[in-house]
Amino acid sequence: MLTGGCLCGAIRYRAAGSPEFQGLCHCRDCQKLSGGGHVGFICFPKEAVTIEGEVLVHHGKGGSGRPADRLYCPSCLSPLFGTSELMPGKINIYAGSLDDLGQFRPQIAIFTRSRQPWDDGSRFLKCFETIPSAS
Ligand SMILES: [Zn+2]
Ligand SMILES: [Zn+2]
Repeated sequence: MLTGGCLCGAIRYRAAGSPEFQGLCHCRDCQKLSGGGHVGFICFPKEAVTIEGEVLVHHGKGGSGRPADRLYCPSCLSPLFGTSELMPGKINIYAGSLDDLGQFRPQIAIFTRSRQPWDDGSRFLKCFETIPSAS
């Protein structure tokens, strides 16, 4: 069981079972979103994740250019989740929001084409220029 929440505590979540995969996304959108070099993500089936509180949804496009939503705490604006048309029925938890960051076990790095030399700790993971199916 993974648990986590936003900075102010208004949004809490828990995820049951094992994640389908987890990794680091170095796409430009995740860099803009996080103010850093990447976002850690943990992918679950939507039904495995229970969210307490009303999230703010921002509709945008993912690194692939397809519609993708980012879900935030409406109060402190922490980014918490992402969903994408490319991955129907799935939800990505942003790893920094976990209560116990030690539970995050990234296996892959995606969109490494925009990975920066000052944020290359993921070079030891399985790396993809964009997303796995496109590599
Ligand atoms: Zn909050
Ligand atoms: Zn990304």
